[in-house]
Amino acid sequence: MAQTATNKRLVTLIPGDGIGPEAVNATRRIIEATGVPIEWEVCEAGANVFKKGLESGVPAETIESIRRTRVVLKGPLETPVGYGEKSANVTLRKLFETYANIRPVRELPGVPTPYSGRNIDLVVVRENVEDLYAGIEHMQTPGVAQCLKLISRKGCEKVVRLAFELCRAEGRKKIHCATKSNIMKLTEGMLKRTFEAIAPEYPDIEAQHIIIDNCAHQLVKRPEQFEVIVTTNMNGDIISDLTSALIGGLGFAPSANIGNDVAIFEAVHGSAPKYAGKNVINPTAVLWSGIFMLRHIGEFEAAAAIEHAILVTLEEGKVRTGDVVGYDKCNSTTEYTDAIISNLGRKSERWLVRDYKPLKLPQVSKEFDFVKPQSRRVIGVDIFIETSKQPEEVGPKLEEICANTPLKLKMMSNRGTKVYTPTGAITDCVDHFRCRFILRSNDGELTDAQLIDLLQRVSSEFRWMHIEKLQEFDGQPGFTKAQGED
Ligand code: NAP
Repeated sequence: MAQTATNKRLVTLIPGDGIGPEAVNATRRIIEATGVPIEWEVCEAGANVFKKGLESGVPAETIESIRRTRVVLKGPLETPVGYGEKSANVTLRKLFETYANIRPVRELPGVPTPYSGRNIDLVVVRENVEDLYAGIEHMQTPGVAQCLKLISRKGCEKVVRLAFELCRAEGRKKIHCATKSNIMKLTEGMLKRTFEAIAPEYPDIEAQHIIIDNCAHQLVKRPEQFEVIVTTNMNGDIISDLTSALIGGLGFAPSANIGNDVAIFEAVHGSAPKYAGKNVINPTAVLWSGIFMLRHIGEFEAAAAIEHAILVTLEEGKVRTGDVVGYDKCNSTTEYTDAIISNLGRKSERWLVRDYKPLKLPQVSKEFDFVKPQSRRVIGVDIFIETSKQPEEVGPKLEEICANTPLKLKMMSNRGTKVYTPTGAITDCVDHFRCRFILRSNDGELTDAQLIDLLQRVSSEFRWMHIEKLQEFDGQPGFTKAQGED
């Protein structure tokens, strides 16, 4: 960890956009009031950087600061809509491979919700860099878009191990893995299989899989049954906003982005532009993210002191923010901050703080080829074509095209549903077909030369835009069937 000559811990501080500077300033004041030796390196990212014409929204100086300090406390960054810029938040998370996003929520005193009294205290651990957030999108035909959902075994292993380690660091005894593996067997299924493979290494923790849609349902119905939920990026994005609503809203929902080298601490919420500069927002989410940052750098005492002070402040309810009591009768962000500072050193009798232990970061191999099969074989190819012809016309033409090749047409599908040979079902097709060719023989492997020959034959009749090899690894198919495919 980076330190100054005077033994102060260096932390990169990004005030952010909208309400960011107010929330970050409040957090900085409270952390400094505990006396922890931190030197902040204040850096820019987000809206102002986009305005200067830098499309990433993250300047080189900010990247350099993070490389040096390895720890970031940041306010929310606005993502301009419709200008083609990528989210600077996602860029920061991905550039530094912060592979897990930890999003805890707990019931709080003085913050009434329909769930008050049920003792909600759970953490969503969201995979943070893969999945649809790889952001690889293409228009495949003028009217059909594609987004690649990329999930790696290495990525799953890192986030699953971290989630189990989090259970141990926080003294939690139960973990759920929430996926849509019943539908996306290879991608979402990868997280489920990894979870089930790793769970026996943690016999002290009860491990269960749950389908994500039921998880959302159960979270609303009986949220107190959950302790830790590990899930894929998109699922985690959605259910963590849901869980923050259970305990009083985004103003109370912190997060930690954890990587092997860098950790970024930020609220779940965004820049809430309508409240910017009004000194009325709730800084607790950013402050609680700062508490995680303190634990991350080993300052457990200061972290606990702030957590106790927040609980005392909320329990007494003398000073309250607008998201809790309404903006017509609330205190200012500054008054709320002052109240927490004045409560440092006090503890609530009723509202306890967990006994946190250091979080052990899992050591996972850095090898690119994380999974090494004993055998592999290319047994066919999916060629994606654009055509407005009917499948009954396209199918026979493709059969004619591949007649004298080692490949045969197995089927055609339209957005995942088999349409050739006809199934008798009624499909409202679009101009985007997957044409699946497989080797006629069960032995041998499809060569690139044979594949290219087939592609050339297909392109003499149809416009193709994408191909995908059909591979087997250790005799198992590395592809799924279309709906209706035998
Ligand atoms: P948002 O900024 O999270 O705000 C949504 C609503 O949540 C606000 O209107 C407000 O609710 C409430 N809220 C959020 N933070 C609050 C706080 N600290 N205190 C009190 N109330 C709070 O979501 P958004 O409006 O969808 O996004 C605005 C911008 O932020 C977008 O550009 C988005 O891309 C960006 N964003 C950034 C991050 C990040 O930096 N990690 C995350 C999410 C979004 P009421 O209206 O009910 O009062």
